[in-house]
Amino acid sequence: MSPPSRPDIQSLPKAELHRHIEGCVRAPTILRIAKKHKLPLPTFDEAELDKLVRLRAPMKSLEEVLRMFSIAQSVFVSLEAIEELVWELLERAYSEENIRLLELRYSPDFMLKGKNLDWQEAFDRIHSTLERFEKTHAFCGGLILIASRSFGMESAQKTAEFALRNKGRVIGFDLADSESAYPPSLYAGLAARLREAGIPLTVHSGEEAGWESVLQTLELLKPRRIGHGVRAVEDPSGRTLGRIKAEGVTIETNPWSNYLTHSVPSLETHPLPKFLKLGVRASIGADDPDLLDTDLNKEYGLAVDRMGLTMDDLRLANRCAVEGSFLPEDKRQEAAKLIGEKPEI
Ligand SMILES: [Zn+2]
Repeated sequence: MSPPSRPDIQSLPKAELHRHIEGCVRAPTILRIAKKHKLPLPTFDEAELDKLVRLRAPMKSLEEVLRMFSIAQSVFVSLEAIEELVWELLERAYSEENIRLLELRYSPDFMLKGKNLDWQEAFDRIHSTLERFEKTHAFCGGLILIASRSFGMESAQKTAEFALRNKGRVIGFDLADSESAYPPSLYAGLAARLREAGIPLTVHSGEEAGWESVLQTLELLKPRRIGHGVRAVEDPSGRTLGRIKAEGVTIETNPWSNYLTHSVPSLETHPLPKFLKLGVRASIGADDPDLLDTDLNKEYGLAVDRMGLTMDDLRLANRCAVEGSFLPEDKRQEAAKLIGEKPEI
């Protein structure tokens, strides 16, 4: 069988579980919003700005990526700008990547830091924009709130309280960044409260820190999904992956992101094929598509060209995404129909 072609990949209806809203901002959009709101930028030349907001090669330092993020973050400046940014990212995901199920996530403390905006009003606007998009497109979406670990425990508690207040409209909760400096044990109480309230967890783990952190995350936080999780394969006993499989945890892989952040030495050694072969539920995501110069078409292409996946493997990863989705049952069934896959759920 010949490998899938680019048109085959583009036209495949897709499901994605791991995409940061703050990582979906293009240089022309930054320019447009900055001019409208009279915001300062390091440059108003589009090509120059593109270089400052898009990582094109494996990162040299975390600071390099944070600088890029801070430029994108600066344009989440008003409710109108937020609506414009979210609508644009949804339209692009739908038409360019053929995404039919999309779980979006953001960190309120990061996105709105230094802005004169209320968390609730911003959330309401993002949620209503998503609902408006769903009404006019064959598409299912949901919102996950992130606590940025590097913002400290008070920020994490505040974000968790905010998620609890918006239960029903928030589909899940995530812990992101600085995994080594902020170990899972710090979040056991917070995770238990969210789980008991019926808000499922996904945790960025096994990206910067090793398999031991993934194992601790599973034990202490009991997440339904792991973001990245690539280093789980480094456990020589195989216990970490065994547990992920036995507990039905979904690994949200983001291959190009994992390569750029040095979580994997090369795409050829990425564990995605291994996950799928072992029967571990694994999805494919783009993480921060504009910041990392990628999208799902590119991710699927890399999975084929560099990891040897077939069209059937790509469909399996899509099915895994629907099965692992935090969306309510009726929406998941609807999404399954849209991507033409029957999930075993
Ligand atoms: Zn992420």
